[in-house]
Amino acid sequence: MTTVVLLLIVLQSVMSQNLYELLEINKEANEADVKRAFRKLSLKYHPDKNPGSEEAADKFKQINRAYEILTDKDKRQVYDQQGLEGLERLERGGDNRQKGPNAKAEVHVSLEDLYLGTTRDMSITRNVYCPKCRGTGAKDGKTKQCPKCKGQGITMQKVQVGFGMQMQMQVQCDQCGGRGQVNQANCGHCRGRKVVNDVKSLNIVIEKGMKDGDEIVFQKEAEQIPDMIPGDVIFTVKQSSHNRFKRVGDNLFYDLKISLEEALLGFSKRITHLDGHLVEVSSKSDEVIQPFSWKVITGEGMPKRNMYSEFGDLHVKMIIEFPKTLNEKQKQLIDQILQA
Ligand SMILES: [Zn+2]
Ligand SMILES: [Zn+2]
Repeated sequence: MTTVVLLLIVLQSVMSQNLYELLEINKEANEADVKRAFRKLSLKYHPDKNPGSEEAADKFKQINRAYEILTDKDKRQVYDQQGLEGLERLERGGDNRQKGPNAKAEVHVSLEDLYLGTTRDMSITRNVYCPKCRGTGAKDGKTKQCPKCKGQGITMQKVQVGFGMQMQMQVQCDQCGGRGQVNQANCGHCRGRKVVNDVKSLNIVIEKGMKDGDEIVFQKEAEQIPDMIPGDVIFTVKQSSHNRFKRVGDNLFYDLKISLEEALLGFSKRITHLDGHLVEVSSKSDEVIQPFSWKVITGEGMPKRNMYSEFGDLHVKMIIEFPKTLNEKQKQLIDQILQA
Protein backbone atom coordinates (compact mmCIF):
# COMPACT_ATOMS: atom_id res chain seq x y z
CA MET A 1 0.00 0.00 0.00
CA THR A 2 2.72 2.44 0.97
CA THR A 3 4.65 1.70 -2.22
CA VAL A 4 1.58 2.56 -4.29
CA VAL A 5 1.20 5.89 -2.53
CA LEU A 6 4.90 6.60 -2.93
CA LEU A 7 4.76 5.76 -6.61
CA LEU A 8 1.84 8.11 -7.06
CA ILE A 9 3.76 10.91 -5.39
CA VAL A 10 6.78 10.27 -7.62
CA LEU A 11 4.59 10.23 -10.72
CA GLN A 12 2.96 13.44 -9.62
CA SER A 13 6.33 15.12 -9.23
CA VAL A 14 7.36 14.00 -12.71
CA MET A 15 4.12 15.25 -14.21
CA SER A 16 4.21 18.66 -12.63
CA GLN A 17 7.92 19.12 -13.20
CA ASN A 18 8.62 22.37 -14.96
CA LEU A 19 10.60 21.48 -18.07
CA TYR A 20 12.47 24.77 -18.03
CA GLU A 21 13.55 24.29 -14.42
CA LEU A 22 14.48 20.72 -15.25
CA LEU A 23 16.90 21.90 -17.94
CA GLU A 24 17.98 24.84 -15.75
CA ILE A 25 17.04 27.43 -18.35
CA ASN A 26 14.53 30.27 -18.39
CA LYS A 27 11.43 30.52 -20.52
CA GLU A 28 13.09 32.79 -23.06
CA ALA A 29 15.71 30.19 -23.96
CA ASN A 30 16.06 29.66 -27.69
CA GLU A 31 16.72 26.35 -29.39
CA ALA A 32 20.50 26.72 -29.10
CA ASP A 33 20.18 27.40 -25.35
CA VAL A 34 18.02 24.31 -24.94
CA LYS A 35 20.53 22.18 -26.82
CA ARG A 36 23.44 23.50 -24.79
CA ALA A 37 21.65 22.85 -21.49
CA PHE A 38 20.63 19.40 -22.64
CA ARG A 39 24.18 18.44 -23.62
CA LYS A 40 25.54 19.55 -20.27
CA LEU A 41 22.91 17.73 -18.19
CA SER A 42 22.77 14.59 -20.30
CA LEU A 43 26.51 14.17 -19.80
CA LYS A 44 26.07 14.58 -16.07
CA TYR A 45 23.20 12.12 -15.73
CA HIS A 46 24.16 9.64 -18.41
CA PRO A 47 23.66 6.04 -17.20
CA ASP A 48 27.25 5.20 -18.20
CA LYS A 49 28.50 7.79 -15.73
CA ASN A 50 26.09 6.76 -12.99
CA PRO A 51 26.09 2.97 -13.03
CA GLY A 52 23.35 1.48 -10.90
CA SER A 53 21.78 4.82 -9.97
CA GLU A 54 18.06 4.68 -10.57
CA GLU A 55 17.71 8.34 -9.71
CA ALA A 56 20.18 9.36 -12.40
CA ALA A 57 18.51 7.06 -14.92
CA ASP A 58 15.16 8.64 -14.15
CA LYS A 59 16.56 12.14 -14.41
CA PHE A 60 18.23 11.21 -17.70
CA LYS A 61 14.87 10.09 -19.06
CA GLN A 62 13.19 13.32 -17.94
CA ILE A 63 15.91 15.46 -19.47
CA ASN A 64 15.50 13.68 -22.78
CA ARG A 65 11.75 14.19 -22.70
CA ALA A 66 12.16 17.89 -21.87
CA TYR A 67 14.64 18.25 -24.70
CA GLU A 68 12.30 16.55 -27.15
CA ILE A 69 9.45 18.90 -26.22
CA LEU A 70 11.35 22.18 -26.01
CA THR A 71 13.12 21.75 -29.34
CA ASP A 72 9.87 21.02 -31.19
CA LYS A 73 8.19 24.32 -32.06
CA ASP A 74 4.66 22.91 -31.98
CA LYS A 75 5.08 20.83 -28.85
CA ARG A 76 6.75 23.68 -27.01
CA GLN A 77 3.89 26.04 -27.86
CA VAL A 78 1.30 23.60 -26.60
CA TYR A 79 3.35 22.83 -23.48
CA ASP A 80 3.77 26.54 -22.74
CA GLN A 81 0.09 27.26 -22.97
CA GLN A 82 -1.64 24.05 -21.97
CA GLY A 83 0.97 22.29 -19.88
CA LEU A 84 1.94 18.64 -20.09
CA GLU A 85 -1.68 17.50 -20.04
CA GLY A 86 -2.40 19.56 -23.15
CA LEU A 87 0.71 18.17 -24.78
CA GLU A 88 -0.26 14.59 -24.02
CA ARG A 89 -3.63 15.27 -25.61
CA LEU A 90 -1.80 16.52 -28.70
CA GLU A 91 0.46 13.47 -28.76
CA ARG A 92 -2.50 11.13 -28.54
CA GLY A 93 -3.44 12.60 -31.89
CA GLY A 94 -5.92 15.12 -30.68
CA ASP A 95 -4.63 18.58 -31.40
CA ASN A 96 -7.93 20.20 -30.62
CA ARG A 97 -6.65 23.67 -31.35
CA GLN A 98 -8.24 25.43 -34.28
CA LYS A 99 -6.08 26.84 -37.02
CA GLY A 100 -5.85 30.61 -37.07
CA PRO A 101 -6.47 32.67 -40.21
CA ASN A 102 -3.93 32.62 -43.05
CA ALA A 103 -2.25 35.88 -44.04
CA LYS A 104 -2.19 36.51 -47.79
CA ALA A 105 -0.14 38.87 -49.90
CA GLU A 106 0.95 39.22 -53.52
CA VAL A 107 4.49 39.16 -54.80
CA HIS A 108 4.90 41.03 -58.09
CA VAL A 109 7.44 39.71 -60.56
CA SER A 110 8.39 40.14 -64.20
CA LEU A 111 8.46 37.40 -66.83
CA GLU A 112 12.26 37.67 -66.70
CA ASP A 113 12.12 36.85 -62.96
CA LEU A 114 10.08 33.74 -63.70
CA TYR A 115 12.47 32.72 -66.49
CA LEU A 116 15.62 33.11 -64.41
CA GLY A 117 14.28 32.60 -60.89
CA THR A 118 14.84 35.20 -58.17
CA THR A 119 14.36 35.91 -54.49
CA ARG A 120 12.57 38.64 -52.58
CA ASP A 121 12.89 39.68 -48.97
CA MET A 122 9.60 40.69 -47.41
CA SER A 123 9.09 41.69 -43.84
CA ILE A 124 5.84 40.96 -42.11
CA THR A 125 4.53 42.43 -38.89
CA ARG A 126 2.33 40.27 -36.75
CA ASN A 127 1.57 39.27 -33.19
CA VAL A 128 3.67 36.48 -31.73
CA TYR A 129 3.61 34.83 -28.34
CA CYS A 130 5.29 37.04 -25.78
CA PRO A 131 8.86 35.73 -25.38
CA LYS A 132 8.93 36.58 -21.65
CA CYS A 133 5.87 34.61 -20.57
CA ARG A 134 5.75 32.38 -23.65
CA GLY A 135 2.17 33.25 -24.40
CA THR A 136 0.71 32.57 -20.99
CA GLY A 137 0.32 36.23 -20.01
CA ALA A 138 1.47 35.32 -16.51
CA LYS A 139 4.51 36.82 -14.85
CA ASP A 140 7.22 34.12 -14.83
CA GLY A 141 4.56 31.78 -16.20
CA LYS A 142 3.13 31.39 -12.67
CA THR A 143 -0.56 30.75 -12.24
CA LYS A 144 -2.81 30.12 -9.26
CA GLN A 145 -6.17 28.49 -8.71
CA CYS A 146 -9.02 30.61 -10.03
CA PRO A 147 -10.74 32.16 -7.00
CA LYS A 148 -14.14 32.29 -8.68
CA CYS A 149 -14.53 28.64 -9.65
CA LYS A 150 -11.96 27.25 -7.21
CA GLY A 151 -10.09 25.58 -10.05
CA GLN A 152 -13.15 23.78 -11.43
CA GLY A 153 -13.37 25.83 -14.62
CA ILE A 154 -17.15 25.90 -14.26
CA THR A 155 -19.61 27.78 -12.10
CA MET A 156 -23.27 27.18 -11.32
CA GLN A 157 -25.78 29.67 -12.58
CA LYS A 158 -29.45 29.96 -11.72
CA VAL A 159 -31.69 30.31 -14.75
CA GLN A 160 -35.41 30.97 -14.99
CA VAL A 161 -36.97 28.11 -16.96
CA GLY A 162 -40.63 28.84 -16.58
CA PHE A 163 -43.18 30.55 -14.40
CA GLY A 164 -41.67 30.57 -10.93
CA MET A 165 -39.30 27.77 -11.79
CA GLN A 166 -35.53 27.91 -11.51
CA MET A 167 -32.81 25.58 -12.63
CA GLN A 168 -29.15 25.37 -11.85
CA MET A 169 -26.92 25.21 -14.87
CA GLN A 170 -23.20 24.66 -15.29
CA VAL A 171 -21.48 27.41 -17.23
CA GLN A 172 -17.86 27.99 -18.12
CA CYS A 173 -16.16 30.22 -15.55
CA ASP A 174 -15.79 33.65 -17.11
CA GLN A 175 -12.86 34.66 -14.94
CA CYS A 176 -10.48 31.91 -16.04
CA GLY A 177 -12.16 30.95 -19.31
CA GLY A 178 -12.70 27.42 -18.04
CA ARG A 179 -9.05 26.73 -17.28
CA GLY A 180 -9.39 26.80 -13.52
CA GLN A 181 -6.17 28.81 -13.33
CA VAL A 182 -5.51 32.54 -13.39
CA ASN A 183 -2.28 34.52 -13.49
CA GLN A 184 -0.59 35.20 -10.17
CA ALA A 185 0.47 38.46 -11.72
CA ASN A 186 0.38 39.73 -15.29
CA CYS A 187 3.52 39.52 -17.40
CA GLY A 188 5.14 42.96 -17.45
CA HIS A 189 6.37 42.61 -21.02
CA CYS A 190 3.01 42.01 -22.74
CA ARG A 191 0.84 43.30 -19.86
CA GLY A 192 -0.96 39.99 -19.78
CA ARG A 193 -1.93 40.20 -23.48
CA LYS A 194 0.03 36.97 -24.16
CA VAL A 195 1.24 38.34 -27.50
CA VAL A 196 3.54 41.12 -28.64
CA ASN A 197 4.16 42.78 -32.00
CA ASP A 198 7.01 41.33 -34.00
CA VAL A 199 8.62 41.95 -37.37
CA LYS A 200 9.97 39.03 -39.31
CA SER A 201 11.80 38.96 -42.60
CA LEU A 202 10.79 36.19 -44.99
CA ASN A 203 12.93 35.16 -47.92
CA ILE A 204 10.65 34.35 -50.83
CA VAL A 205 12.18 32.09 -53.43
CA ILE A 206 10.69 32.55 -56.90
CA GLU A 207 11.61 29.32 -58.64
CA LYS A 208 12.38 29.15 -62.34
CA GLY A 209 9.25 28.31 -64.26
CA MET A 210 6.76 29.46 -61.62
CA LYS A 211 3.52 30.81 -63.01
CA ASP A 212 1.18 33.67 -62.29
CA GLY A 213 -1.10 32.51 -59.48
CA ASP A 214 1.37 30.05 -57.94
CA GLU A 215 1.55 30.19 -54.16
CA ILE A 216 4.55 30.27 -51.87
CA VAL A 217 3.55 29.10 -48.41
CA PHE A 218 5.28 29.76 -45.11
CA GLN A 219 3.59 27.34 -42.78
CA LYS A 220 2.43 28.59 -39.40
CA GLU A 221 4.14 31.97 -39.81
CA ALA A 222 0.96 34.06 -39.54
CA GLU A 223 -0.37 35.69 -36.39
CA GLN A 224 0.08 33.65 -33.22
CA ILE A 225 -3.16 33.56 -31.30
CA PRO A 226 -3.25 31.88 -27.87
CA ASP A 227 -4.70 28.36 -28.02
CA MET A 228 -4.74 28.33 -31.81
CA ILE A 229 -2.42 26.82 -34.40
CA PRO A 230 -0.94 29.78 -36.28
CA GLY A 231 -2.19 30.14 -39.85
CA ASP A 232 0.11 30.22 -42.87
CA VAL A 233 1.59 33.20 -44.67
CA ILE A 234 0.77 32.74 -48.35
CA PHE A 235 2.30 34.78 -51.15
CA THR A 236 0.64 34.62 -54.57
CA VAL A 237 2.86 35.19 -57.61
CA LYS A 238 1.61 38.03 -59.82
CA GLN A 239 3.36 38.38 -63.16
CA SER A 240 3.28 41.80 -64.79
CA SER A 241 2.54 41.70 -68.51
CA HIS A 242 5.54 41.72 -70.84
CA ASN A 243 5.89 44.09 -73.79
CA ARG A 244 7.29 41.47 -76.18
CA PHE A 245 6.50 37.96 -74.96
CA LYS A 246 3.22 36.38 -73.97
CA ARG A 247 3.17 33.24 -71.90
CA VAL A 248 0.70 30.38 -72.09
CA GLY A 249 1.62 27.44 -69.88
CA ASP A 250 5.29 26.70 -70.51
CA ASN A 251 5.19 28.18 -74.02
CA LEU A 252 6.08 31.69 -75.11
CA PHE A 253 4.47 33.64 -77.94
CA TYR A 254 6.14 36.39 -79.93
CA ASP A 255 5.02 38.60 -82.82
CA LEU A 256 7.79 38.99 -85.40
CA LYS A 257 7.47 41.80 -87.93
CA ILE A 258 9.00 41.20 -91.35
CA SER A 259 8.76 43.22 -94.55
CA LEU A 260 6.91 42.01 -97.65
CA GLU A 261 10.27 41.68 -99.35
CA GLU A 262 11.52 39.42 -96.52
CA ALA A 263 8.33 37.38 -96.66
CA LEU A 264 8.79 36.77 -100.37
CA LEU A 265 12.57 36.53 -100.71
CA GLY A 266 13.59 35.06 -97.37
CA PHE A 267 14.96 36.39 -94.10
CA SER A 268 17.01 35.61 -91.02
CA LYS A 269 16.36 37.46 -87.77
CA ARG A 270 17.35 37.22 -84.14
CA ILE A 271 15.06 37.57 -81.16
CA THR A 272 16.58 38.67 -77.85
CA HIS A 273 15.30 36.23 -75.25
CA LEU A 274 14.35 36.99 -71.62
CA ASP A 275 17.88 36.39 -70.35
CA GLY A 276 19.50 38.21 -73.28
CA HIS A 277 20.50 35.19 -75.37
CA LEU A 278 19.70 35.38 -79.09
CA VAL A 279 17.32 33.03 -80.87
CA GLU A 280 17.57 32.81 -84.63
CA VAL A 281 14.39 32.73 -86.70
CA SER A 282 14.75 32.32 -90.45
CA SER A 283 12.87 31.18 -93.52
CA LYS A 284 13.70 27.97 -95.33
CA SER A 285 15.07 28.27 -98.84
CA ASP A 286 12.32 28.99 -101.41
CA GLU A 287 9.81 29.46 -98.61
CA VAL A 288 7.24 32.23 -98.97
CA ILE A 289 6.04 33.34 -95.57
CA GLN A 290 2.27 33.41 -95.27
CA PRO A 291 0.66 36.21 -93.25
CA PHE A 292 0.02 35.22 -89.61
CA SER A 293 1.68 31.84 -90.03
CA TRP A 294 3.73 30.43 -87.14
CA LYS A 295 7.22 29.21 -86.68
CA VAL A 296 7.76 27.01 -83.63
CA ILE A 297 11.20 26.94 -82.07
CA THR A 298 11.34 23.99 -79.71
CA GLY A 299 12.99 24.35 -76.33
CA GLU A 300 12.97 28.16 -76.37
CA GLY A 301 9.90 28.63 -74.15
CA MET A 302 9.80 28.91 -70.35
CA PRO A 303 11.75 26.53 -68.11
CA LYS A 304 9.52 23.84 -66.63
CA ARG A 305 9.22 24.16 -62.89
CA ASN A 306 11.08 21.42 -61.01
CA MET A 307 12.59 20.25 -64.34
CA TYR A 308 14.91 23.14 -65.11
CA SER A 309 16.61 21.36 -67.98
CA GLU A 310 13.31 21.12 -69.85
CA PHE A 311 11.70 24.04 -71.62
CA GLY A 312 8.47 24.79 -73.43
CA ASP A 313 8.48 26.10 -77.01
CA LEU A 314 8.66 29.54 -78.57
CA HIS A 315 5.85 30.25 -81.03
CA VAL A 316 6.71 33.04 -83.43
CA LYS A 317 3.87 34.65 -85.36
CA MET A 318 4.75 36.22 -88.72
CA ILE A 319 3.48 39.76 -89.05
CA ILE A 320 4.11 40.94 -92.61
CA GLU A 321 4.35 44.68 -93.04
CA PHE A 322 2.99 45.56 -96.46
CA PRO A 323 4.03 48.76 -98.25
CA LYS A 324 1.48 51.53 -97.68
CA THR A 325 1.46 52.70 -101.33
CA LEU A 326 2.98 51.74 -104.69
CA ASN A 327 3.87 54.07 -107.57
CA GLU A 328 2.94 53.34 -111.17
CA LYS A 329 6.33 51.90 -112.05
CA GLN A 330 6.26 49.49 -109.10
CA LYS A 331 2.76 48.41 -110.02
CA GLN A 332 3.81 47.63 -113.60
CA LEU A 333 6.83 45.64 -112.46
CA ILE A 334 4.84 43.59 -109.97
CA ASP A 335 2.20 42.98 -112.58
CA GLN A 336 4.85 41.66 -114.97
CA ILE A 337 6.32 39.37 -112.30
CA LEU A 338 3.01 37.92 -111.16
CA GLN A 339 1.79 37.37 -114.74
CA ALA A 340 4.88 35.40 -115.56
ZN1 LIG B 1 -12.45 30.11 -12.90
ZN1 LIG C 1 4.20 38.27 -21.61
